[in-house]
Amino acid sequence: MARKRKCPVCEIGDLLKADDIISEIDGLLFVEKGERCDNCAEEFIPEEEGKRIIKVAKRLNIWGKPLRLHRKLCKSGRGTILRIPADLERALGLQGNEKVALSKVGKKILIEIEPSS
Ligand SMILES: [Zn+2]
Repeated sequence: MARKRKCPVCEIGDLLKADDIISEIDGLLFVEKGERCDNCAEEFIPEEEGKRIIKVAKRLNIWGKPLRLHRKLCKSGRGTILRIPADLERALGLQGNEKVALSKVGKKILIEIEPSS
C-alpha cells in the first residue's frame, strides 16, 4: 500500500488525490488535478499541472488576467480564517508574517500586502 503524504500545512491531514480543484482566470474555470488535505482542505497542484493550465490560459490569451482561487473560509474561536493557497504564497513571496490591509469593496474583500518597513 502506498504511503500517504502528510499535509505540510496543518501536518495533521493526509493528502488525497483530487481531480476537481477549481481555479478561475478571467471568469473561466479550470479544473485541475492535484491533491487535497483531508483535514484543512489546502489544495496542492503539481508543477506539471500548473504549467498545463498556464499554457491553456496563454493560448486563450487570458494569462496575466486576474487569477481567482476558490477557497473555503473556516471558523476558529474568535473569527474566520482564510488560508492563502501555497501557490499564491509562493508567487507573492510571502513569509507569513506580513501585515495586510483588508478593505471591503461592495461584496468583495480586497487584501493588500503592506510593504514591510
Ligand atoms: Zn492540511
